[in-house]
Amino acid sequence: MTAMIRQPSPNFNERRFPLDMLVLHYTGMETGAAALERMCDPAASVSAHYMVWESGEIVQLVEEDKRAWHAGVSRWQGDEDLNSRSIGIEIVNGGHDWPLEDGRLPPYPEAQVQAVIALCKDILGRWDIPQTRIVGHSDIAPARKQDPGEHFPWVKLAREGIGLWPLQPGTGEATLASALEQIGYDIGDLPAATAAFQRRWRPARIDGVDDPETRSVARAVAALYSAG
Ligand SMILES: [Zn+2]
Repeated sequence: MTAMIRQPSPNFNERRFPLDMLVLHYTGMETGAAALERMCDPAASVSAHYMVWESGEIVQLVEEDKRAWHAGVSRWQGDEDLNSRSIGIEIVNGGHDWPLEDGRLPPYPEAQVQAVIALCKDILGRWDIPQTRIVGHSDIAPARKQDPGEHFPWVKLAREGIGLWPLQPGTGEATLASALEQIGYDIGDLPAATAAFQRRWRPARIDGVDDPETRSVARAVAALYSAG
């Protein structure tokens, strides 16, 4: 069990579905302190189960068996009310709204990444969460959200058994839309779903365009998802 401090938030209620998802976010605010204050403010009506500081320190705000309020309107593999189904982790990072002076996204420090990995491993040890249901906020709300961002090291997490990462190009003739749907994306807004997919698995270019490389990677991820 990773060390953590508790700062209980009033922003939670009862789950309506079994817990079988893990949702990763960035805080997207100027500081972690501001994010923590907001998640404990009843007027804000937002929260998460955990927040992970840049230093790797972990704060627990909501008990895991309760429904925290982090996902908003979202959809994955046909399911909605993902707050009822998930544990939410907010990772302190300014993200797209608070870039560095040179315009780059603020990096995730290694100590923070290692703490996120340890926390996710703990959670996956306690709950039956399929690999295909470990998601970023942008995966489940592609038209609204960009977090945890294309700078989040998903590949490092995958190497630790948190989420799937394809090691070879995809094969077959599946269209991009059908591959994204097999993975779990809501393809109602296909360019948004495509951009969300690129942000996670092909971050070199996030333009929402159906190109051969995006298609190939999406087929590879879809194959992993249908296998496991
Ligand atoms: Zn989020």
